[in-house]
Amino acid sequence: MTLTEKLLARASGKAHTAPGDNVWVNVDILMTHDVCGPGTIGVFKREFGADAKVWAREKVVIIPDHYIFTADSMSNRNVDILRDFVREQGLPYFYDVIDDPSGHWKFDASKGQLKQQYGKNFAGVCHTTLPWKGHTRPGEVLVGTDSHTCMAGAFNQFATGIGNTDAGFVLGTGKILLKVPETMRFYCEGELAPGVMAKDVILHVIGDIGFDGATYRAMQWEGPGVNAMNMDDRMTIANMAIEAGGKNGIFPYDEKTGEYVRERVAENGTKSSFEPVGVDREQSFVFDKTYDLSKLEPTVACHPDPGQRKSAKEMSSVQLDRAYIGSCTGGKTSDFLAFARIVRGKSVKIHTFGVPATTKVVRELKDTMWGNESVWSILENAGVQMTENASCAACLGGPQDTFGRMNEKALKCISATNRNFPGRMGHKESQVFLASPYTVAASALTGHITDPREFLS
Ligand code: SF4
Repeated sequence: MTLTEKLLARASGKAHTAPGDNVWVNVDILMTHDVCGPGTIGVFKREFGADAKVWAREKVVIIPDHYIFTADSMSNRNVDILRDFVREQGLPYFYDVIDDPSGHWKFDASKGQLKQQYGKNFAGVCHTTLPWKGHTRPGEVLVGTDSHTCMAGAFNQFATGIGNTDAGFVLGTGKILLKVPETMRFYCEGELAPGVMAKDVILHVIGDIGFDGATYRAMQWEGPGVNAMNMDDRMTIANMAIEAGGKNGIFPYDEKTGEYVRERVAENGTKSSFEPVGVDREQSFVFDKTYDLSKLEPTVACHPDPGQRKSAKEMSSVQLDRAYIGSCTGGKTSDFLAFARIVRGKSVKIHTFGVPATTKVVRELKDTMWGNESVWSILENAGVQMTENASCAACLGGPQDTFGRMNEKALKCISATNRNFPGRMGHKESQVFLASPYTVAASALTGHITDPREFLS
């Protein structure tokens, strides 16, 4: 069996599953956020009753992260609905934006977008928060009301996005009916060349198979090239399985995974036991291709979908209006460090926005010193508008006052985020070019799409 087939067999109490089987799966973790949480709660109450209790309090994780730092009252109200539900159900894992469990969230626009407006429990973007707070474990099933839930596949678990109706049912029963997907294998050999990042790998592969090339399929990553990657890189790749239509992305377990997970579950006091699934010698794939990572180049996915692959070099005539680094995919500490390596001591030429994925990333960038300067200051001194308010921000547009949102038509943005369908980051006539943090940084310096190797000695 493939990794996904083994995971779903175990979670459904069967010895064996094959693609196309429909199985009732026991869920280990259900995650929801401020956009889909209120709808999920509504379905749960409608189907199970106003006084119903969730199936397992310690398996529900609620993370406000999408439309948070906005004066939009409907968005603010969504966060209050989550808080009320958490209080009513006594849920232990809620990363609230305010400290008062009976309070109401209101963004103070007069303080501006850059300075911290959250309490001590707030965490940031859900997919980056889940591993940080010890909710991702090898061998488990994690579902979430967000398409990029597949990011947790980096940890050798089955992770996928589900709708509010399914999530409401999971809240009540802990179960979900899933069709076992076929598996595509991406076998990676060789080492990435300088200036090429994990983001380039996934953009290259999506360009290869198309933005619907993995529809309802598992994307399984294997090979020495994958084993050499750190967990952040694996997360970047697993995150974008959905950009090829994938049901999930999945990585083999190794000691790096174990160490990462053990550290975080210990730090957070979450469940510490886990049982990874190993790679079988006999596996059957619907697609199997070997990639030599050393041959990859800095890559860009052009408007209007993530499958529109070009090399950064051949896009150098595209003039840009802005650059953006952030999101679950591209707002990790390692992403900002790569970005800072390029812009250090220089000045960006176009409006450039930096949105850390989590509050931990904010702290790490402020605490990491390069010489006498923190990385945070290096970024600010290069002209990057850095906000302390970790969240999804303009990755998905959001309300009009969202930090970094493209409100005017015909703007062109190069972005370290993961999705570039029309209107994704604001105005429906704006354009988003997806790239690695290196390429976004180099392009911010020149004002046009730029191969970052020009700036790396
Ligand atoms: S950062 Fe972007 S892709 Fe990630 S969860 Fe938020 S909106 Fe979705």
